[in-house]
Amino acid sequence: MIQLPLSKLSDVGTTIFSQMTQLAQEHEAINLSQGFPDFMSDPELLGHAEHFIKKGFNQYAPMGGMMNLKEEIAGKIETSHQAVYHPESEITITAGGTQAIFTTIAAFVKKDDEVIIFEPAYDCYEPTVELFGGIVKRFEMKAPEYEIDWNTVKGLISEKTRMIILNNPNNPSGKILKEHDLQELTGIVKGTSILILSDEVYENIVFDGKQHLSICRYPELKERSLMVASFGKLFHVTGWKIGYCAAPKNLTDEFRKVHQFNVFSVNAPLQLALAEYMKNPDHYLYLNGFFQEKRDFLRKGLANTPFELLDCEGTYFQALKYDKISDKNDFDFARELTVTHKVASVPFSSFYKNKKNEHVIRLCFAKKEETLEQALEHLSKL
Ligand code: GLN
Repeated sequence: MIQLPLSKLSDVGTTIFSQMTQLAQEHEAINLSQGFPDFMSDPELLGHAEHFIKKGFNQYAPMGGMMNLKEEIAGKIETSHQAVYHPESEITITAGGTQAIFTTIAAFVKKDDEVIIFEPAYDCYEPTVELFGGIVKRFEMKAPEYEIDWNTVKGLISEKTRMIILNNPNNPSGKILKEHDLQELTGIVKGTSILILSDEVYENIVFDGKQHLSICRYPELKERSLMVASFGKLFHVTGWKIGYCAAPKNLTDEFRKVHQFNVFSVNAPLQLALAEYMKNPDHYLYLNGFFQEKRDFLRKGLANTPFELLDCEGTYFQALKYDKISDKNDFDFARELTVTHKVASVPFSSFYKNKKNEHVIRLCFAKKEETLEQALEHLSKL
């Protein structure tokens, strides 16, 4: 066998989402682990996709993305957040949120640069920073509130801090940033050259009349931020793998230097389909109410079980504390839940470097009512 050099990611295995989905399939469990809808996307959008493929738009898209899609995105951002991005020079279409995150980190993080993340943190941030020689500094948010203590964050800042990665609404906790969080952050970065990578892929899934406070609403933050979003979450097409990054021109220029060699450009006919479909904002403005109904259905069904329901302000994930049911660690508990009770979840410790175990698991409720009903039936036996 060939002798390999030292692994660049020696601590990294297969993502928890792939692991749990595979376990769910092996044990024929209801898969509430990996976050994806089990219902169809709108036939109108699918029709647009078919139309543009058949019309022959099957060659490379421009490197930064199709102009009409970028224009629709700029319009959406301006209407939602009163922030202006130039479609040509400040918006780039990516192969999903993950590629936008990877490319941002690759473009800006150099060896020994420090990057601050907030745990529980989506799983791709840390390995990507590590891959480019960066050093991760983490602030641990704790169950059940998952609040950020900005004084502690301030203590993590040094002259080596290159980037802060935010995830708002937060996957997996379901928490959203509040006005005071963004004010504190503004104070912390003022006068520095720290960049912000703001992962906002669940921006249109926020509940109870609360508002998603995008980074781009704050001019002092916008000028240093790369904002990432995803059509997978917006239109129930996670398999299309299309998202985008919006950032001021000087940051976009650097982003694209990497993007062009990373994917070059993204699926052309599907970009055209998305642009056509986006013309009607009702196609995404209903999402808050749509997913709130699903969240409430799941929460109501779980209210009579020993699970403790943590707050869910946004995303399509519900966090559950299970310490009244088991003292197993969350990985073993999630495994047992899949194998014995036929419901797959994601253990929260996967989102902490030190595998912090607070007896919390995550369930995805982007599912048909009948799927949630079946899962509730199994879970009510616990
Ligand atoms: N974002 C999805 C989740 O949190 C997973 C995506 C993936 O499997 N890479 O479940």
